[in-house]
Amino acid sequence: TPHPQPNPQVGAAVKAADRAHVFHSWSAQELIDPLAVAGAEGAYFWDYDGRRYLDFTSGLVYTNIGYQHPKVVAAIQEQAARMTTFAPAFAVEARSEAARLIAERTPGDLDKIFFTNGGADAVEHAVRMARLHTGRPKVLSAYRSYHGGTQQAVNLTGDPRRWASDSGTAGVVHFWAPFLYRSRFYAETEEQECARALEHLETTIAFEGPSTVAAIVLETIPGTAGIMVPPAGYLAGVRELCDTYGIVLILDEVMAGFGRTGAWFAADLFRVVPDLMTFAKGVNSGYVPLGGVAISQKIAETFARRPYPGGLTYSGHPLACAAAVATIEVMAQEGVVENAARLGAELIGPGLRELAERHPSVGEVRGTGMFWALELVRDRETREPLVPYHATGEANAPMAAFGAAAKAHGLWPFINMNRTHVVPPCNLTEAEAKEGLAALDAALSVADEYTR
Ligand code: PLP
Repeated sequence: TPHPQPNPQVGAAVKAADRAHVFHSWSAQELIDPLAVAGAEGAYFWDYDGRRYLDFTSGLVYTNIGYQHPKVVAAIQEQAARMTTFAPAFAVEARSEAARLIAERTPGDLDKIFFTNGGADAVEHAVRMARLHTGRPKVLSAYRSYHGGTQQAVNLTGDPRRWASDSGTAGVVHFWAPFLYRSRFYAETEEQECARALEHLETTIAFEGPSTVAAIVLETIPGTAGIMVPPAGYLAGVRELCDTYGIVLILDEVMAGFGRTGAWFAADLFRVVPDLMTFAKGVNSGYVPLGGVAISQKIAETFARRPYPGGLTYSGHPLACAAAVATIEVMAQEGVVENAARLGAELIGPGLRELAERHPSVGEVRGTGMFWALELVRDRETREPLVPYHATGEANAPMAAFGAAAKAHGLWPFINMNRTHVVPPCNLTEAEAKEGLAALDAALSVADEYTR
């Protein structure tokens, strides 16, 4: 891949046009300072001044096979030359092949694929399918979750970001999912946390009225909200509740799917088969926007002789699907899922735990595969977060200092409130993992200065 010479002048022009005309997601437009990125390859990207960063964010946790994988780039180019686009009502090779490869890997009988443009619309459609399938109005979703930025998805999201939405959408009810480190259930063990979270969920269903609940939507492992791996038995327990009350189980694997957790899907880790499963991001490493819903036989049957009232112009866009076919082939051929599992278990997990032993700012390490979070705290005893939730300006100085130190050591960190997530590409090498851990070590020393 040609690496253009560093050119600060071009960088300045890119930045100026961005500042003048690009309206950025989730941001106060005048309080942000986006880096102008000149290029990217594998686990790295670089700016116009020639500074290179190891990307421990995988973009927004989607470049599961890194940037610019030559086989995927070539597949996109070939598809563009052959058939750049074709409307969703037609059978198109890239689309049917992508659907087949996805269905082969999704758990159980999730064998029909409805393609969307990304994760939020996948969640929107999954919820619509569940409501139509059951004829019931309500949807239960967890606090401390993220399901997307569109109207329904942002209201399902259990995070104050959903409050920005004007009125909320009708029929969304939130519950607490397990999270032992900050337990809402006064639990002291994973077993207690699991049992009490399930009891709480069943009580929620009972008080809402089981016959009014269409679906429970859960991230198999909540990602954006802090990578909380659920206790053994929780998801199986949720599956059981859904079966008991005739509720559709929607597992949102937009972030956790396609290798991220060291399995093709996080549901595989817990041996749970949902009725609907949403995906996006890693399906094609985010090279072209694509998401979707994997649909069980039972729900597909609902729409066998009755039209499904929903669709998208770009559903199963050939360019995006060609990228998915190539990405899935690369993942299979190069053992990317196995690499994520092995590196997570043997290097990243142990490496992060070792950092936690030496750095008082690390309150907890949790995760699996290439999906880890460090909970940074002022005080390990009280678990007071290193910065208050949703801190800005001065109040956020410790996390800002941590982030700046990581970048000074060549690491681009994922930072969300008082946490840093370690979510590098799933085909990371051992050398890259070690480089990233060394930079984190240095950055945590800066965070330590803010502990009590
Ligand atoms: N669901 C989950 C679990 C996610 O992590 C995300 C994005 O981070 C979404 C849905 C929304 O996906 P998108 O941003 O592609 O709409």
